[in-house]
Amino acid sequence: MTISSARTREWRRLAAVLVALVLADYLLALTPWLLLAGACAYVAWHVYHVHLLARWLASGGRQPEPATRGIWAQVFESLGRIHRQNRKRKKRLRKVVMRFQQAAEALPDGAIVLDANGLVLWMNEASSRLLGIESPRDIARPVSSFIRHPKFADALNAEAFDEPLHISSPQREELQLLIRIVPYGGSRRLMVVRDVTRIHNLEQMRKDFVANVSHELRSPLTVIVGYLEALEDDDSLPDEFARPIAQMSQQASRMTLIVEDLLQLSRLEATPGAASDQSVAVAEMLESIARDARTLSEGAHRIDCHADREFTLRGNWNELYSAFSNIAFNAVQHTGMGGVIRLQWASDGEGGARLSVTDTGEGIAEHHIARLTERFYRVDKARSHEMGGTGLGLAIVKHVLVRHDAWLEVESRPGEGSRFSCRFPAHRVVHREIPDELERKAVA
Ligand code: ADP
Repeated sequence: MTISSARTREWRRLAAVLVALVLADYLLALTPWLLLAGACAYVAWHVYHVHLLARWLASGGRQPEPATRGIWAQVFESLGRIHRQNRKRKKRLRKVVMRFQQAAEALPDGAIVLDANGLVLWMNEASSRLLGIESPRDIARPVSSFIRHPKFADALNAEAFDEPLHISSPQREELQLLIRIVPYGGSRRLMVVRDVTRIHNLEQMRKDFVANVSHELRSPLTVIVGYLEALEDDDSLPDEFARPIAQMSQQASRMTLIVEDLLQLSRLEATPGAASDQSVAVAEMLESIARDARTLSEGAHRIDCHADREFTLRGNWNELYSAFSNIAFNAVQHTGMGGVIRLQWASDGEGGARLSVTDTGEGIAEHHIARLTERFYRVDKARSHEMGGTGLGLAIVKHVLVRHDAWLEVESRPGEGSRFSCRFPAHRVVHREIPDELERKAVA
């Protein structure tokens, strides 16, 4: 029987009893005593069952449902059924959670659940090995008390979770860890910790190898270039040697440029982190680069320079000079006769500043743009060789910009020209007051 048919039955039974009691009252001239007594008995019956229900609920549904009749039998049976279903569902969920926890425990990466205040709520086995956090000892303790690295504290406070963090383990200095924090479920955070020691060591070996090879090649190359220059100037040599010696000299110079660029890249990699905080007068620097670019162009291009003297940069003069001149000289090399090159330094309208080099040169097809800053990536290898390019210039630019918290933007259309922009964030830009309005814009 369903609860709704039991309810109908109960109503019917109540109506029949009420009619019978009213009739009996009337026939026996007892109005309304029998009806009153019946109503009291009915209420008492329900109160008794409410008491039974309260007792059964207080036992947490562990006792068998009370044996009773009528609508209450149906109520108890339905409640019992719901209770049994809930118990089964809970058991199933507990098994799923257990299986999930076992899987998380088996992960080779550390997984730590943090609350909104950075307190540890849960962690897996690998976390203890990588970070020295133990369960249950360290549950509800702030994660920043185990990882005291300033980079980690800054990222946690600023909720800057986009970039993974690279730090050494507080447990064992030689372990290199990559930490990623993912916010989830409103205010919770999942912290994933990966051991990247092997990759880090391989990367270090690669850097050392390139730096050492470049360094070792430098001295013999200087000697070779020196002798070749002497041979080029030697008039006593037969004429047939002139061409091969000129070619050897050209290639040796190219090798020297490559070695110099590789050494510069190695130096940038060897000092990771932010560049120094010198005050760099970009306007003056850009004007000097424009003059050098005009010398390189030998009158083949019109080169304009618009630099706002109000803005200076916090950074490393040498690194910035190398990056900006690389972009400017590229523009000269990749723009045909009569082309226009425009060097600009101005506010970006968003609190930061932008240095851009715009040319009306050959342009670059869309699919090359993302790869331009890779080492030795050239759009046209043969032409780059011909122009004496090393293929490392934009890789250096990228490194320098990263060290200045800046980034490179490239817009280009084949056949129409390109714009290379270095974008600097507000905290790297200093706004200085120039009293004379006329002094502000230097147009070279
Ligand atoms: P390279 O020494 O060959 O110039 P870079 O790393 O400086 O090496 O530049 C990589 C490639 O990007 C160049 O080979 C060239 O194909 C392309 N490139 C750079 N600047 C420009 C530009 N202004 N116009 C067209 N192509 C460019």
